[in-house]
Amino acid sequence: MSTLDFEIIRNENPVSAEDRAGILADPGWGQHFTDHMITIRYHKTKGWHDAKLQPYGPITLDPAAQVLHYAQELFEGLKAYRQADGSVVMFRPFANAARMNTSAKRMAMPEIPEEVFVEALELLVSTDRDWVPTTEGHSLYLRPFMFATTRLLGVNQPADEYLFMIIASPSGNYYARGIKPVTVWLSQDYTRAAPGGTGAAKTGGNYAASFAGQAQAVAHGCDQVVWLDAVEHRWVEEVGSMNLMFVYGSGAQPRILTPALTGTLLPGITRDSMLTLAPDLGIQVEEGKINIDEWQHGCESGELTEVFGCGTAAIISPVGAVKGADRAWTIGDGEPGPISMRLREELIGIQFGRRPDPYNWVHKV
Ligand code: PMP
Repeated sequence: MSTLDFEIIRNENPVSAEDRAGILADPGWGQHFTDHMITIRYHKTKGWHDAKLQPYGPITLDPAAQVLHYAQELFEGLKAYRQADGSVVMFRPFANAARMNTSAKRMAMPEIPEEVFVEALELLVSTDRDWVPTTEGHSLYLRPFMFATTRLLGVNQPADEYLFMIIASPSGNYYARGIKPVTVWLSQDYTRAAPGGTGAAKTGGNYAASFAGQAQAVAHGCDQVVWLDAVEHRWVEEVGSMNLMFVYGSGAQPRILTPALTGTLLPGITRDSMLTLAPDLGIQVEEGKINIDEWQHGCESGELTEVFGCGTAAIISPVGAVKGADRAWTIGDGEPGPISMRLREELIGIQFGRRPDPYNWVHKV
């Protein structure tokens, strides 16, 4: 099966053009949703079926639906961007489709054909095209997700039935008031992901488990939490919901080190894009390991000049300072560094169509 017939049920009460313009003037993040959504059902014997584009709105679930008890759920996140000529593109939707299916395998959930995933995104974005912001730096965030709907409290088997959905939310510029480096907290009490666990899957439970660590970071006056490895609590893995890049920019040949995908990190699509883009800009990249002592000493010796988090939401988020229970240091002068900013400009340039796209990353809707 490569495609499904979608039933189209138009929203008879869409948000008025005037109200939509008001929302798009200041969309914030994840607070407003477009007029439609996608739903596709799965049953173990029937496969994927009952595909619909329908008005955005609440859904009903049996109280015994397995997702509510055992959290069999996963999600994706990507964006649609308005181009200068008015057209709309999505960024690397097939990469999200592939990652969703990798997550599905880990969570014993059904895989969705990549073409169906992308076709469903195209249908939603083209129907709600007027919701793709035209303001510089704004975009339409797309949230595909899937969860177990089978009514069963038995805990020793995965569900037979699932619902796949896509919703869309206009999103503003993460750094509307200029790029401000974040201060990060080294979490040595809480772990995001352990070897053999679900860290490489984009499943809700990973995020539920992260809130206490994030709250601890905030309690220590930090913006985000740095996740360390679960065994020795000193190898750096991720920051908040972003992958990390360490820039050694002091020599003639700048170099980026990013923690390798050991199974406890989410394989970010922005991370992957950076690893492709940087060498073409003359910046070497290396996937490896870095511990908190190396991070601190690298900054103190001046060798490690910039550190940034990268992900779909903020694209690049420079890290200005680090705090832990027994240490604190700053990175460079605490301001956004030139290599971070260069990479950000290049990637955003491709997304908004201001730069050529030799990698075929943008997907016209
Ligand atoms: N790590 C985690 C834990 C995340 O939730 C995300 C956001 N999806 C990322 C990294 C960055 O991934 P991407 O670049 O695909 O947004």
